[in-house]
Amino acid sequence: MKCPFCGAEDTKVTDSRDSAEAFETRRRRECEKCEKRFTTYERIEQHPLVVIKKDGRRESFSHDKLMGGIVKSCQKREVSMVKIEEACRDIENILRNEDKSEISSNLIGGLVARKLKKLDKVAYIRFASIYKDFEDVTDFEKEIKSIKTRGFN
Ligand SMILES: [Zn+2]
Repeated sequence: MKCPFCGAEDTKVTDSRDSAEAFETRRRRECEKCEKRFTTYERIEQHPLVVIKKDGRRESFSHDKLMGGIVKSCQKREVSMVKIEEACRDIENILRNEDKSEISSNLIGGLVARKLKKLDKVAYIRFASIYKDFEDVTDFEKEIKSIKTRGFN
């Protein structure tokens, strides 16, 4: 990285911080020649994601909305925010790796459901009851049945 002040080639990184939500790394750098400091941002290039809803309407993908849906399903359950954020990030990564600019809300629903199934069964059921028909119904019924026999844990 060239120094923006004197153009010297040798700059060193004094601090590096990842920001998970923004897919961004912030680096504090210092020029070894003129000793001036500056900050650089490294971002993953993201194409905008458009979600196609069940009724055919399109809206831009929202990290907050995804997060909100998961938080809502996990209310009063013992799922930490760290786990929720992690799940959210995983889902977003999968969606972005699809390399499509348009994704169906069904696909997102299915991914969230799969995550919740592993995190917390009750949260999973809640989510499924709000965002119905994202998945095979028989699968869902099987899940409810197994919870009924085992009880919520
Ligand atoms: Zn310099």
